[in-house]
Amino acid sequence: MCCVYFPSKLKSLPDPWCPPGFFKAEASNRSCQACPANSQALVSGAQFCFCKDRFYRAPTDLRSGPCTGLPSAPRDLMASTQLPSGKLLLSWKPPEDTGDREDITYNVECQRCDGPVCQTCGEKIRYEPGSVGLTDTKVLVSQLDAHLNYTFTVEALSGVSQVLEEEMPSSTSITTSVLFTGDIKLVEQTPSSLSLSWDVSPRSQPTSYELTYRKKDDNLDKTTYIVPKLEKNYAQIKDLAPATAYLFRVQALSSDGSRGGFSQEEQFETLSEASMVALARQDDTYFSTPEQLKPLKTYVDPHTYEDPNVAVLKFATEIHPSHVTKQKVIGAGEFGEVYKGILKAPGKKEFAVAIKTLKSGYSEKQRQDFLSEASIMGQFSHQNIIRLEGVVTKFKHAMIVTEYVENGALDKYLRNHDGEFSSFQLVGMLRGIAAGMKYLSDMSYVHRDLAARNILVNNNLECKVSDFGLSRVLEDDPEGTYTTSGGKIPIRWTAPEAIAYRKFTSASDVWSFGIVMWEVMAFGERPYWDMSNHEVMKAINEAFRLPAPMDCPSTVYQLMLQCWLQDRSKRPRFGDIVSLLDKLVRSPDSLKTIADFDPRISIRLPSTSGSDGSPFRSVSEWLESIKMSQYIDNFTSAGILTMDQVLQMKNEDVKNIGVRLPGHLKRIAYSILGLKDQTSTLSVFAV
Ligand code: AMP
Repeated sequence: MCCVYFPSKLKSLPDPWCPPGFFKAEASNRSCQACPANSQALVSGAQFCFCKDRFYRAPTDLRSGPCTGLPSAPRDLMASTQLPSGKLLLSWKPPEDTGDREDITYNVECQRCDGPVCQTCGEKIRYEPGSVGLTDTKVLVSQLDAHLNYTFTVEALSGVSQVLEEEMPSSTSITTSVLFTGDIKLVEQTPSSLSLSWDVSPRSQPTSYELTYRKKDDNLDKTTYIVPKLEKNYAQIKDLAPATAYLFRVQALSSDGSRGGFSQEEQFETLSEASMVALARQDDTYFSTPEQLKPLKTYVDPHTYEDPNVAVLKFATEIHPSHVTKQKVIGAGEFGEVYKGILKAPGKKEFAVAIKTLKSGYSEKQRQDFLSEASIMGQFSHQNIIRLEGVVTKFKHAMIVTEYVENGALDKYLRNHDGEFSSFQLVGMLRGIAAGMKYLSDMSYVHRDLAARNILVNNNLECKVSDFGLSRVLEDDPEGTYTTSGGKIPIRWTAPEAIAYRKFTSASDVWSFGIVMWEVMAFGERPYWDMSNHEVMKAINEAFRLPAPMDCPSTVYQLMLQCWLQDRSKRPRFGDIVSLLDKLVRSPDSLKTIADFDPRISIRLPSTSGSDGSPFRSVSEWLESIKMSQYIDNFTSAGILTMDQVLQMKNEDVKNIGVRLPGHLKRIAYSILGLKDQTSTLSVFAV
């Protein structure tokens, strides 16, 4: 029975073979279906239709369904920066051509560029709700830096994109930078005025600011006041009502007039008249002269409290130790290790902090000295002063928690980045330090140990004055040396009158600031090199001063010399120093003239003669003495074969024979300057 023939039945069935352009998934009675959109069946009998060129089915699509194309690029990508600091909102429109699909999603990628150097943004920045698989056409980006350019690329994807891994998704990009200000801080309050300042990035474009404020709880008066075109990151708002809360917001404006993000809205209250009277009673001298109408701006020495623990409570916030997590040791303080860690207070965002600890086995006196730093720091609120977050005092292990400053101590940071910053950037750092010192001197606080090692520097090259303990100059600083006048003093940084008879004033801090200027402009070089403290004191008393660091602008060196005037009343005040440095930063042309080395302004320089004091006999002997013998061949090939020829060399010549490393260049150039000036070890200089 091979072949049974049922002619009548066969005739009633549809043709099992579909013609071209039609398909039928399985042999059945059902009729053939026309190929769905963007697909085709070129021969008869197709079980499904193939996708036409450049159309695809996603792995989850039915074989019987239509074929779809890749989406075109998202449209009209925009970045709105008028948001709280460090945030921007990217938004776009769906692609013009969705490829006939509805499962369009978006991925956002980011590159950040500091000048010409670009890299992917990595995990540093945050996206809400995320950066991949977005179904909405917007994303909030946060934790951006103010001085960088960011390029955001938004890709459009759909189910078919995964079939085509090699094909780049259609995308669109935008380059933008965020201009913003940091948190607003209260500098001073009276019954009728509030003085505020806010952080700025020194590397962002020149900007002005617009401050907006309004009364907090006033249902009748909803007026918003605007203070436009503020040139500095500071404002004093007058004619306010006493004991009233105001809300403030600040917005940065770029030089081309475009507006940056808003700061967070902050609330500050004016004082009540009653509190002023109370303060006046506390301090009878308060109303004696008009300049002293600054009760809250005067520093209170924690020593004036009978019980130092009361001072800590007054000026510092107590933190519960469970809110503090230590992560790694970053330094060694006088009283114990310093850690990097995290502070997470309930209801607040966590952030990086530095944690100073008190080692076990301390005496009560040591504990009080340790915590005195917090009592002092807690009285300050300034962008260029290290900020105290709080203290842990109620538990066995006392801690001081401060803001974390990413790049650590300035002297070391500059030594590690020798030659990498322009004079403009270095002067910007000095301006910050001077602003911090002006704030301290306005509060009548004398630092006594101002030195680059006691300045911390953050990722924006912003400098923060630190190190405020009561005993620190005496014990903490390895530079501290005992003097005949008693106590330990960091000789190289200290004004002569403070060394001689312990006359520490803001004017002696100005002297130290001059030394910090020199350290900064010389990328962390040790002041007076390898001279002994005794030699330094002798030289200063004989009116010698440090020579200009290499490539130091003349205006900057002139300011250093002013800071080192013997007569302390003639030295500039920190206010003058801030104004001058401000001017220099605002007109970078003023930094173009480089200070000459003036042989009259000399001091003993590194290795100016052989160890026995006799002149060097050969170029190699000299280079060996300054540990630069790797350059012997450079000198020989340049035809510099005798010490007489070396003596003719200028800084440019040293560069031209191939000495490029800034540290080496400096060492060789200074040594030559010293050799030129060898008629006496310390040559004549009159300030
Ligand atoms: P100090 O006891 O204040 O001299 O601190 C010792 C070292 O710890 C410093 O030289 C810094 O390297 C580091 N350090 C202290 N405080 C901070 C901070 N707030 N941020 C980053 N590093 C810090």
